[in-house]
Amino acid sequence: MKYYILFGPPGAGKGTQAVAMVEKYNLKHISTGEMLRAEIAAGTRLGLRAKGLIDAGSLVPDEVVEEMIETTFNANPQVNGFILDGFPRTMTQAEMLDRMLSRKGEDVTAVISLMIPDSLVKERIAHRAAIEGRADDASDETISNRISTYHKKTEPLIDYYRKKGKYFEIDGDGGPGEAGILAVRERLFELLDRL
Ligand code: ADP
Repeated sequence: MKYYILFGPPGAGKGTQAVAMVEKYNLKHISTGEMLRAEIAAGTRLGLRAKGLIDAGSLVPDEVVEEMIETTFNANPQVNGFILDGFPRTMTQAEMLDRMLSRKGEDVTAVISLMIPDSLVKERIAHRAAIEGRADDASDETISNRISTYHKKTEPLIDYYRKKGKYFEIDGDGGPGEAGILAVRERLFELLDRL
């Protein structure tokens, strides 16, 4: 099984690129953010617990996402592997993932970072807010909180995976519009074919 981690700030295009990877390589896309939004929409207890935190741009507790991840791994034996999008987001989660995979005799295959500057993060989120209507995209304060949480808690994972020789970077800015998305996709496929 392949275990790819897609990495990058909010708005880097992880979800968009994951869709293309799923088709080409027969992978299962696991987006913890999407799963949490589905829980909120369904009004589950977990969703109720997560909503306030997400709307404020804070992280939900580690054990909540851990369980979602493990359940999804176990429910998808037919795929060639998984794309983790939005997980791990903290060192604790990275260590959790290592333990989870080593119990299966597996390991993280590669961590691929879509690199974009903070200025582009804000622009893309503002654009997405107009299209998708996500509550956590609507307020400047929430967006800033997510960007700073990313720099503080998530970026340290880069060093962790770099030391293991598993960290790769791609320029996530392919220019405007559909052509830009395709340009980034080409870079990503080129890397995946090489790994
Ligand atoms: P984005 O990448 O645009 O910030 P996501 O859809 O990945 O959005 O996540 C939305 C929100 O869901 C996060 O701001 C956070 O509150 C919560 N969340 C998602 N994944 C995790 C995680 N691994 N650990 C904790 N909270 C998470």
